[in-house]
Amino acid sequence: MKDELNQARELMVSEQITRRGVTSPRVLEAMRSVPRDRFVPEDSQAYAYDDYPLPIGQGQTISQPYIVALMTQLLQLEGNEVVLEIGTGSGYQAAVLASIAKTVHSVELLPELSERAARILGELGYLNIHLHAGDGSQGWPKTAPYQGILVTAAAPKPPQALLDQLAEGGRLVIPVGDRGNQELQVWEKVKGDFSHEDIIPVAFVPLRGKEGWHEGQW
Ligand code: SAH
Repeated sequence: MKDELNQARELMVSEQITRRGVTSPRVLEAMRSVPRDRFVPEDSQAYAYDDYPLPIGQGQTISQPYIVALMTQLLQLEGNEVVLEIGTGSGYQAAVLASIAKTVHSVELLPELSERAARILGELGYLNIHLHAGDGSQGWPKTAPYQGILVTAAAPKPPQALLDQLAEGGRLVIPVGDRGNQELQVWEKVKGDFSHEDIIPVAFVPLRGKEGWHEGQW
């Protein structure tokens, strides 16, 4: 079983990720090393390395492997960064980030998901990931600023709190849009000003909370 999963992971990287143009050696190494099968629900293990998102309970999903790799690459991490993730979910994206960055803080609104992620990340021995339960649309000011911020739920617009918590030269990777129409955007802070770029259309679950989508709007 273990060999099969390792093989499936190698194929995931070559067929879904490299082939679509992700080239960062750090990102490819992280995608090769993090056991995605541990983060999906047990009854979905056989699909862990397939080319689509999977349900993780509470109406939430773990993103498609390619999207995890692409978003990670867009942060342009070199290894010494303190990074913030909004939407811990399964904990998989946090583990990928932690394989590259120095420290990862990840905020999750739903305590059940945060607790499950904490258990799995603990079992796998990640020591540089700090999980927080709360409204990530407000970021996590205590440990700001961040060289990179990655949001894994779609926001109406980039929350001001997240832009405020970005370090000089830092990047915010965030899906922006509604249920039917979202664009993955990268925001960069240069000399106190922000510039942004659209990358590709995506489909994420809604960011909730103060600067997220409210009940009935989505
Ligand atoms: N990154 C996750 C996928 C997350 S799905 C993974 O690798 O598995 C999006 C997650 O964002 C969900 O778990 C959802 O509960 C969470 N979320 C939505 N709004 C949020 C908010 N305001 N603050 C923190 N987490 C939020």
